[in-house]
Amino acid sequence: MKNRIAIFPGSFDPFTVGHESIVIRARGLFDKIIIAIGSNSSKQSLFTMEDRLGWIRDIFRNDEKISIISFQGLTVDCCRNNSAGYILRGLRTSSDFEFERAIAQMNRTMHPEIETVFLLALPEFSHVASAIVRDIIVHGGDPSIFLPSAVKIKSVKG
Ligand code: ADP
Repeated sequence: MKNRIAIFPGSFDPFTVGHESIVIRARGLFDKIIIAIGSNSSKQSLFTMEDRLGWIRDIFRNDEKISIISFQGLTVDCCRNNSAGYILRGLRTSSDFEFERAIAQMNRTMHPEIETVFLLALPEFSHVASAIVRDIIVHGGDPSIFLPSAVKIKSVKG
């Protein structure tokens, strides 16, 4: 049987307790989870790639099942380059679902060998969003309750 390797793609700008919860819950479903930070030229990030890679590396430092990479381009190509047969995504709301459904179905049409697996957000994390965390940070608030303790915000870009 082939290894069950999943890519968990996202911007993780920054990585939140919601993202962490998806990885921890999916851990038992796969042999390996590769957290893959996409660098998307049309989406300006608040945090550098180095910060985002470093935080996630710290969180899962002692877990040999979890690794972390950055990638450019299509998630399906990232899967093929890493021999991953699964894309892992989290769903918080019906708008997440509508957005994810189109991408997953188009990906499946092009690459039927790659399956997308969704986990529903836990109710206690379904309101947690990186975009709102960024707003809190930019306006000088304290977002720490929404962040794993390894995510230490020192400064922001620009
Ligand atoms: P993207 O820019 O690809 O949406 P994100 O970093 O915002 O990347 O999210 C990565 C994945 O994590 C997505 O599948 C998203 O739905 C999921 N996610 C984000 N926040 C949460 C949360 N609070 N609970 C569960 N899943 C989440």
